[in-house]
Amino acid sequence: MPLPKAELHLHIEGTLEPELAFELAARNGVTLPYASVDELRAAQAFEDLQSFLDLYYACMAVLRTERDFEDLADAYLRRAAAQGVRHAEIFFDPQAHLARGVEMGTVVEGLGRALAASEENHGVSTRLIMCFLRDESAGSAMETLELARPYLDRITGIGLDSAEVGHPPVKFREVYEAAAALGLRRVAHAGEEGPASYVTEALDVLGVERVDHGLRCMEDPALVERLVRERIPLTLCPLSNVRLRAVDVLEDHPLPAMMEAGLLCTVNSDDPAYFGGYAGDNFDAVRDRLGLDEDRLRELARNSFLASFLEDDEERRARYLAEVEAYEFPRR
Ligand SMILES: [Zn+2]
Repeated sequence: MPLPKAELHLHIEGTLEPELAFELAARNGVTLPYASVDELRAAQAFEDLQSFLDLYYACMAVLRTERDFEDLADAYLRRAAAQGVRHAEIFFDPQAHLARGVEMGTVVEGLGRALAASEENHGVSTRLIMCFLRDESAGSAMETLELARPYLDRITGIGLDSAEVGHPPVKFREVYEAAAALGLRRVAHAGEEGPASYVTEALDVLGVERVDHGLRCMEDPALVERLVRERIPLTLCPLSNVRLRAVDVLEDHPLPAMMEAGLLCTVNSDDPAYFGGYAGDNFDAVRDRLGLDEDRLRELARNSFLASFLEDDEERRARYLAEVEAYEFPRR
């Protein structure tokens, strides 16, 4: 049995495995620019951000109907459960679908059906977080929030993702204020490829409660001290950082130093179909290649539940935390 954990940084569009991509392409009469599952898998050995994004958007074209989104989320939840995920807070990118003529309702209803059945089918509780594409305009983000209004009973919070450099958090001040007024929780990607100052800005201007990635906070000791003092969680994605070259090799990852500094770190998978692994694979990787011992792995699992948006269900959080403490690591 794998270590129980929560996944807090997961883009549902990034869980589309080649087999499902071809199945949905056939169902919807969409032609993928790859001849076979193997050819698509080979393309996933991309070397840089642009080739990743080209592939990512090409594959997304197969997602057309509610059922497609339901199947996508259900496939992710099954995989996640097998790797010990007990709770998942799932990002989706409505603008990427709206731009293709797929409506907000199609996306949210489809994802929502898989999430609603997740506890019964997979034993995984869920939350849904709507992300804005930061390379789109602030006005587009505001329009997206408006389109989401009829579905806010199924959306826990908002996030900010895609190309970071040149798109500082302050650009989205108004939409974050509007979301806060609607009672939505707030997170944002910051300090992945962008500077440590974007992390500070996300906290001060956007009021985020959790920082996605945030690894470049290590360049600013005063910021580290603040993140420790205020217990701000960071959702790190080690395998993603290697694939997108935030670090050259996993052995260079700052995770051990970040934990040593007292930061509230979590380990997540980001876009697992593209970055070489799901949550459990990321845990295995940091154990094997960063030498994290059982105490540190248990700390990461504990942190993942502490950082979860489970304030509306503290009983559940307590149950998950008890599972973490009771967990016995297998003899290796
Ligand atoms: Zn991400």
